[in-house]
Amino acid sequence: MGALDRDLTHCRRCPRLVAWREEVARTKRAAFADETYWGRPVPGFGPADAALLIVGLAPAAHGANRTGRMFTGDRSGDVLYQALYDIGLASRPTATAADDGLALDGVRITSPVHCAPPANKPTPQERDDCRPWLVGELGLLAPTLRAAVVLGAFGWQSALPAFAAAGWEVPRPRPAFGHGARTTLRGAHGPLDVYGCFHVSQRNTFTGRLTPAMLREILRNAATTAGLPVHPEQPQERPQTAQKGRRA
Ligand code: SF4
Repeated sequence: MGALDRDLTHCRRCPRLVAWREEVARTKRAAFADETYWGRPVPGFGPADAALLIVGLAPAAHGANRTGRMFTGDRSGDVLYQALYDIGLASRPTATAADDGLALDGVRITSPVHCAPPANKPTPQERDDCRPWLVGELGLLAPTLRAAVVLGAFGWQSALPAFAAAGWEVPRPRPAFGHGARTTLRGAHGPLDVYGCFHVSQRNTFTGRLTPAMLREILRNAATTAGLPVHPEQPQERPQTAQKGRRA
């Protein structure tokens, strides 16, 4: 996995995204003016023998494009890593920098597009051009991978073709995205259970469309399916029932 991650960081296949990621790295946000931005493709984060994969959308301009690690240094990551910590899959509840000591246990985080796109919106062409990286990552993870949580409809529509290209059987017609959606893909190394979850974007978390309890529930279910030991829900966490079939 290390070689793939290293090669990825040199990719310049998408002219628009290369220009954007590098311009953001030059101009910076005022709050980070003293920092050196990563400004390159962001590889997946987590062990190469993970049993659970979390698939997002793309790096945030001033988050992962700044720090060089998935979901690190922005509000979306705050929500995701807090939830992973709460259920026992992350060593700490915060992710601030690539060298902050955070470690993931049995879970890897990646995205179907590895460069920050303007307005968080990659084009279909950019999504397709980046797919070989995800397919390569999935191929390396396949022997141990048992479950995946896909954040948002864009990730879902991007990930299913990648799972198919990496050797899993994806039903036709393709299963629709929804929060709480679940589909099982058959593969050479055994079944892979894929869960849909609203994205951890501020648009969803600030409005309560995705609550911490909803996120923990999906992650717990997926981790349990993957055979990972997780912390039980604490009484004060007040679980909410996932709203099955709702679309992001
Ligand atoms: Fe390369 Fe993917 Fe970045 Fe495009 S989005 S330049 S394919 S790493």
